[in-house]
Amino acid sequence: MHRTFVDLLDRNLDHADAFADRFDDVQTAQRPPVVTVCCSDSRVLQDHIWGNDTPGHLFTCGNIGNRVVERTAAGDVVSGDVLYPIAHTGTETVVVVGHTGCGAVTAAYEDLTGGVDEPPGIERCLGLLEPPLEAGVAALPGGLDRATAVNYLVEYNVDRQVDFLVGSDEIPDRVDVIGVVYDFQDVYSGRRGEVHVINVDGERDADDLRAAHPDIASRIERLWAY
Ligand SMILES: [Zn+2]
Repeated sequence: MHRTFVDLLDRNLDHADAFADRFDDVQTAQRPPVVTVCCSDSRVLQDHIWGNDTPGHLFTCGNIGNRVVERTAAGDVVSGDVLYPIAHTGTETVVVVGHTGCGAVTAAYEDLTGGVDEPPGIERCLGLLEPPLEAGVAALPGGLDRATAVNYLVEYNVDRQVDFLVGSDEIPDRVDVIGVVYDFQDVYSGRRGEVHVINVDGERDADDLRAAHPDIASRIERLWAY
């Protein structure tokens, strides 16, 4: 067995020691107040970025590009992974978490601007990301370096995922839909590891967001006002 996995098993025993008494209230049911949709990038630690070590608090979905859409014979719908806690456990907050330097957004950008050859499974993921990103690529300001273009599109992608949820009949009005970008590349102000709020229920103007949500005003920051 690869040493990396043996090490993981050892760490799991530490986890079991630490968590032995943390499941008492949630052993047979969950009512997580928040569902997060993160990019599955290994640098985005889905619970850790929120300081969460409470079982039952965060329902975590992960996929490349923090997508919320699933393509079915009946058309595009909210992914069951995201919808499950909203439909079944009373969850009332959804947070879409993009991140700086996203590889999935980079691949979508490169595919839209030149074409890339990926295995079918990855093509399927890109096929879900690219249609809403296409207009974003077309709207990018001229003269951006590649890294900046990608980070603008990271915001654009989060906006489109939020829009899809807000516009879906499957998401009740009581549910707050929030879009954020997690930054570990020193692109935004603040420290590495901080989350920056860029969208609340489809509102993406930073000044309007600060006025509407003064309690989180200092955490609202966008790179691209388009
Ligand atoms: Zn990513």
